[in-house]
Amino acid sequence: MLTVEEALQLVLRHATPRSAVRVPLSPACLGLVLAEDVASDLDMPPYTKSLVDGYAVRAADLAGGAGRLLVVDEIPAGRSPTLPLEAGQTARIMTGAELPAGADAVVMLERSEPLPDQRVYLRDERFKPGQNVLPRGREMRAGEVVLRAGTVLRPQELGLLATVGVKAPLVHQRPAAAILSTGDEVVEPGEQPNRGQIRNSNGTLLAAQAARAGAVTRYLGIARDRLDSLGPLVAEGLKNDVLVLSGGVSAGKLDLVPEVLKEQGVTPVFHKVAMKPGKPLFFGVKEDRLIFGLPGNPVSALVGFELFVRPAMARLLGHAATGPRIVAARMGVEFFYQTDRVTYHPAHLDFGEDGWVVTPIPWFGSPDLRAVSQANAFAVFHPDHPHYRAGERVSVLAPE
Ligand code: AMP
Ligand code: MG
Repeated sequence: MLTVEEALQLVLRHATPRSAVRVPLSPACLGLVLAEDVASDLDMPPYTKSLVDGYAVRAADLAGGAGRLLVVDEIPAGRSPTLPLEAGQTARIMTGAELPAGADAVVMLERSEPLPDQRVYLRDERFKPGQNVLPRGREMRAGEVVLRAGTVLRPQELGLLATVGVKAPLVHQRPAAAILSTGDEVVEPGEQPNRGQIRNSNGTLLAAQAARAGAVTRYLGIARDRLDSLGPLVAEGLKNDVLVLSGGVSAGKLDLVPEVLKEQGVTPVFHKVAMKPGKPLFFGVKEDRLIFGLPGNPVSALVGFELFVRPAMARLLGHAATGPRIVAARMGVEFFYQTDRVTYHPAHLDFGEDGWVVTPIPWFGSPDLRAVSQANAFAVFHPDHPHYRAGERVSVLAPE
């Protein structure tokens, strides 16, 4: 049986970044990935500017760390100075304003004392030529590439795009993900389940995970465990970049999902992963579309999504480095756990004096979504290792 790592490599091998589009610059661009290099259209700063409120000076006038100077101008941000500074002169200047010609340093306001007759006494023991000044073009030059294709857009990159005048960056498109629940016993959340029925947790759960992973989501409803119900909904789902199904992938007589997918041209890549929960996980491809058949129990679906679907989505979005977020932590308590497969056990991850500490949460297996709602991570436990000492190092799956 494939290990989680092997299965993930197979998934990523089939996931290629989506085509590029221009998206208006806004917070909606967060997490998208640039599809072209971006160059600045101007020098930044566009003029030599003051970094503080104070007095612009000629360094020679402050050679001994102090000087009495004549105030000849006042320069607010947004207005260009008109007068050059002559020897013995200074200009009051605001943060961000342009330095007058001749000036090459700024003394902070706190180091000044007004004198009569438009004069000011400046005293700065640590005075250095160039202090409190950002020269024109120091940050970037016009024509210089400031962001490379492949950069993930965070708030600071969005701010930088605004700085260089990009109104609509070229980015990889968000993947479209369809979510399809399956099962004769599954009813929608608004319904009162009869005996033997169960509410559809996964439709909402997986759509939320897909949205958090950066996809545009489409919820397709519940397919019954019949070919004539599954068929049309699967066909609809296959119009998207990613189709995520839940349920119907085990070995039962009514587990028709793999069969229906194959009938509709999906090539199976794998159908089992050595993990718990979620062993009977189906992954297949049709052209460049990715199809995930997750097991029906909510925790299996959730873990399968975090381990495989989310990294795949990241790759479709254009992220170069992708994978589940695994961190190292120490066990907060002694713990006994017998398992025949690598197990992702709901746990709480906390940052303490000695770094990350992980504590397993009581859990009743793959249907028990409530335990996961009290968790913020999954401790990774291994077969043939039934006893964990407090303080022992373990891996932890830690989705944000
Ligand atoms: P299956 O993978 O179809 O064999 O389903 C495994 C278990 O998960 C069964 O107990 C189902 O009732 C349950 N299940 C299947 N689909 C859902 C769903 N959408 N929401 C909640 N539970 C489900
Ligand atoms: Mg089922």
